[in-house]
Amino acid sequence: MIVKKKSLSLKRIGLEALIRRLPDHHPRKREFENELGRVRGGEYGEKLLEQIFQKYELPFEHYIFYDLHLRSTGLFQIDALLISERGAFILEVKNISGRIEFPARHRQVIRTLDSGQVDSYECPSVQLDRNSMLLEDWFHARHFTIPIHKAVVFTRSQIITGERENLTILFPNEVPVYLRKIHHSPKVIPSGQLRKIVDSLLASHSNYSPFPLSHHYQVPKQDILKGVHCQCCGLFTMIPYQHGWRCKRCGQSDRNAHTAAILDYVMLIDTSITNQRCREFLHLTCPQKTKRLLQKSGLSAAGERRARIYHAELDSIERLWNTAMK
Ligand SMILES: [Zn+2]
Repeated sequence: MIVKKKSLSLKRIGLEALIRRLPDHHPRKREFENELGRVRGGEYGEKLLEQIFQKYELPFEHYIFYDLHLRSTGLFQIDALLISERGAFILEVKNISGRIEFPARHRQVIRTLDSGQVDSYECPSVQLDRNSMLLEDWFHARHFTIPIHKAVVFTRSQIITGERENLTILFPNEVPVYLRKIHHSPKVIPSGQLRKIVDSLLASHSNYSPFPLSHHYQVPKQDILKGVHCQCCGLFTMIPYQHGWRCKRCGQSDRNAHTAAILDYVMLIDTSITNQRCREFLHLTCPQKTKRLLQKSGLSAAGERRARIYHAELDSIERLWNTAMK
């Protein structure tokens, strides 16, 4: 049973906006494009794992959490966590193309592409050890004693050389087989307690906010392009027109173009926005019109008149994104 689905990847949405709003010649644009590639790769891997669990029914009571964010002696994130009466299973998903090598002397993985390009990554065993230790602390603080199993799932059928002691490496199709095998071990959690642990995990999950990305990635705010984006020609050339917006370059009209611009502001520049800052960013002149747009945006407001500040929590950012996508 899936008790927590994967959340909307706000980091991916934020990175897409950041790349869109950096000029082509920006010295760090390539770096963010690579980062976006990694985030999308991770999402793809997690989706693949989700499909595996949909395809293969596990014949025992179990609960699955995707993309779980917890805090114990530190903050941590688990790609997929399965809880059953046999214990907890942490699955970390790696979507890395090319040949993978686990060198004996370093806690790194080396990836070699057909082109000859060689890259190194932190060994998944390091991440799994860290997550397993933090999850153990989380259980300990709640007086649960639960064995923790862990494995890394490589999402592509690829050549892997070398191994790590204490690291289980799986391909997606092997996951159900691996879990079934462990199911033959003795029960360690009484049925009644299992549900308690599940509820407790759900209640403890809280999404981590990377916003504003200018702060997260140390990008000067003035580097970020202002204006309202035209989905047709890709430029920030929308101007107010009747009850909506019209592109002065290609003539495209859009009633809702301001939503994406407000969303970009709170993801990239500052999670709080004032009427004046909104006017500057959207190239608006009328405070009344700006006020109406901000009121409709669903952001929480505090303060009166000119001192009014609109604040974007993660859930209002998600709502704004849903509105912008309509
Ligand atoms: Zn246009």
